[in-house]
Amino acid sequence: MGTIDDRSPGLLNEVAMLRSSLLWASTNPFLARRMPSYGFVRRAVRRFMPGETPEDALREAARMGAGGVPTVVTWLGENVHSVAEARDVADGYRALAATVKERGLDVELSVKPTHLGLEHGVDVAVRHIEAIAEVARGIVWIDMEGSAHVDSTLAVWGAVRDRTPDVGICLQAYLHRTENDLERLLPRTPNIRLVKGAYREPSDIAMERKSQVDESFRRLTSRMLRERAAGRMGKVAVATHDRRLIADAGRVAFEIGLPSDAWEIEMLYGIATEEQRRLVSAETPLRVLISYGEHWFPWYMRRLAERPANVGFVLKQLVAR
Ligand SMILES: Cc1cc2nc3c(=O)[nH]c(=O)nc-3n(C[C@H](O)[C@H](O)[C@H](O)COP(=O)(O)OP(=O)(O)OC[C@H]3O[C@@H](n4cnc5c(N)ncnc54)[C@H](O)[C@@H]3O)c2cc1C
Repeated sequence: MGTIDDRSPGLLNEVAMLRSSLLWASTNPFLARRMPSYGFVRRAVRRFMPGETPEDALREAARMGAGGVPTVVTWLGENVHSVAEARDVADGYRALAATVKERGLDVELSVKPTHLGLEHGVDVAVRHIEAIAEVARGIVWIDMEGSAHVDSTLAVWGAVRDRTPDVGICLQAYLHRTENDLERLLPRTPNIRLVKGAYREPSDIAMERKSQVDESFRRLTSRMLRERAAGRMGKVAVATHDRRLIADAGRVAFEIGLPSDAWEIEMLYGIATEEQRRLVSAETPLRVLISYGEHWFPWYMRRLAERPANVGFVLKQLVAR
């Protein structure tokens, strides 16, 4: 996320510059081809994903499930070059969904519309997501990518939702438009995952200050949980590692008496693991998103941008044997 941290002048400007460079790197095709071949980068990324194959992800999902933590699994990739490539991705997801069912795992799926052909037509992405949802056991979440794709992604969700209620959509709290989008989706009892937003966006499209984004996230979470209690929403997923926002969500859910199967916190694998353990022992509903796949570079750069201190970890891997 390219937001400005309010606490700061000097040092935080440098952090903002580093963040911006990492987000720039996330869109650079040359780096995406080159960097994954370096051993130290591969070692560093392991912290955020158990492996590159679907089996790596499902093995970890089974292990976490046995420990009481359900998961969401996603295959990393975006912006495919052809409809045929998108169809192969859909086939891969269908195979994954079939294995999840066979093994009886509590695993939802999360998909990126441009990985499933959105840039080749809304109908292409709709067809592929419907095909995946047909096989899947639980919710199929539709990720939200850069702002250029928001309208078409909402259109994809709308079309799939017509035929299957087991589809969810991600909304990004940093976008100025999100409050209106939520309003427009509510009449259709949507499943929504709320995130802060991970892409580099201009200030007329997304909020710049961290305090504004946090406030927007807090407001949208409270609204969604209340709508859920009133039966006007499907599942509510509050996807953040931010302890204060997690505590606020828990407080609202408690105040309105929302049962624990009506909402959950979602976090990314390998991030804020202490907090994940704390939530499990406090019996706060938690689901963890596990990623796999070879095309992890853009996604990994976005994870580094969220916390530039992670760059130090990458550098440590450079000197580690
Ligand atoms: C389940 C899930 C699905 C997501 N799907 C999408 C999506 O579809 N579209 C989209 O735009 N974004 C998505 N995101 C990413 C999201 O937009 C944020 O970029 C990301 O969650 C970081 O923001 P935060 O809410 O944790 O808050 P922040 O304010 O960024 O972080 C709060 C605290 O969490 C910890 N933390 C956060 N990120 C990291 C990290 N990378 N490494 C180490 N510590 C960290 C730090 O302690 C930090 O102080 C998703 C996130 C999750 C958890």
